[in-house]
Amino acid sequence: MSGESPDWSFETLAVRAGQERSQFNEHSEALYLTSSFVFRSAAEAAARFSGAEPGNVYARFTNPTVTTLQERLAALEGAEGCIATASGMAAIMATVMALMKSGEHIVASRSIFGATQQLFGTILPRFGIDTSFVDQGADDGFRAAMRPTTKLVFIETPSNPLTEVFDIAAAAKVAHARGALLVVDNCFCTPALQRPLQLGADLVIHSATKYLDGQGRVLGGAVCGNKALMEEVFKFLRTAGPTLSPFNAWVILKGLETLAVRMRAQSANALDMARWLEAHPRVARVYFPGLPSHPQYQLACRQQAGGGAIVAFDVKGEREAAWRVVDNCRLLSITANLGDTKTTITHPASTTHGRISAEARAASGIGEGLLRIAVGLESPADLQADLARGLG
Ligand SMILES: *Cc1c(COP(=O)(O)O)cnc(C)c1O
Repeated sequence: MSGESPDWSFETLAVRAGQERSQFNEHSEALYLTSSFVFRSAAEAAARFSGAEPGNVYARFTNPTVTTLQERLAALEGAEGCIATASGMAAIMATVMALMKSGEHIVASRSIFGATQQLFGTILPRFGIDTSFVDQGADDGFRAAMRPTTKLVFIETPSNPLTEVFDIAAAAKVAHARGALLVVDNCFCTPALQRPLQLGADLVIHSATKYLDGQGRVLGGAVCGNKALMEEVFKFLRTAGPTLSPFNAWVILKGLETLAVRMRAQSANALDMARWLEAHPRVARVYFPGLPSHPQYQLACRQQAGGGAIVAFDVKGEREAAWRVVDNCRLLSITANLGDTKTTITHPASTTHGRISAEARAASGIGEGLLRIAVGLESPADLQADLARGLG
């Protein structure tokens, strides 16, 4: 079915793209739990190994269930290709290792996922790859940070936890003017709400662990881009091995079938939540790209098909006031994960951003009263009643 679906809409691709039926003509995608594949002859084995003949060899390289997921995700992102990986971090690592070498440089926005910051800031320098971190939204800062050796510009939009929106088309111009590639971590919006490649990005990163699975079951990741770039990522992956398990690929395929409806419903619930919080007397400020009060509301409207499902807000008062809200939750899950149908609540200053110095936290706007909610599919009224108890 792959390659025959150029006219299908997003909703249809999310359910159908990439499926190839076996001899049994199964309706649901088959799960191929096998690490290797059998050849009919010595000649076929040789041809498969040399690449002269396409086909599966060993699951570190390819597996049909993983291939189906890759084709479906590529179709959803409007990409020529996709390589699935064991986690979102594996996707970022594979991209860097495949496309960069010692002596080259990354420009990244400061407000990126914590583990990405750690990878760029503490691990890659050991291999001669340095990163300059630039404040989100500072176009000039990005231009100024570019070096002749800059290979990748890396952004995440909207950002975590303050939902700052970054102009993807503008970042692509800055990167391309200096011969660099723009990488966008599209974890928060997913292709249901935002397609960075259409705005000029060269590579899209996913933590499939989040909204693509959408039900908090498995780890997974992916990188999407053109054929030549994916060929490089594949060469690294098949040798180094951060490959996605076929079981996880199968679970994520089931998740993708409901991606469009989940993102639509969770975005709507998040907007409802953001409006309610904004009107609450105990809330000082709400951060949500779908609210007209958001500083980049116009940009978010142009770039995203919805506000997403992450809402952050400052409770009036300090840590005690924020913790009181968390500790009074009986419905919302107290966990740092996000992207689930179950709503989660996090106090970033003492968890996800707890290792950053208080000064650095304050500089990036993450105060002691800040809470982040990843809104799920429960009834907004039930969620609000749960928060109202702690807000007082
Ligand atoms: C979770 C996350 C990652 C890392 O994904 P894992 O699957 O946990 O490795 C990367 N980027 C963003 C924005 C994330 O939220």
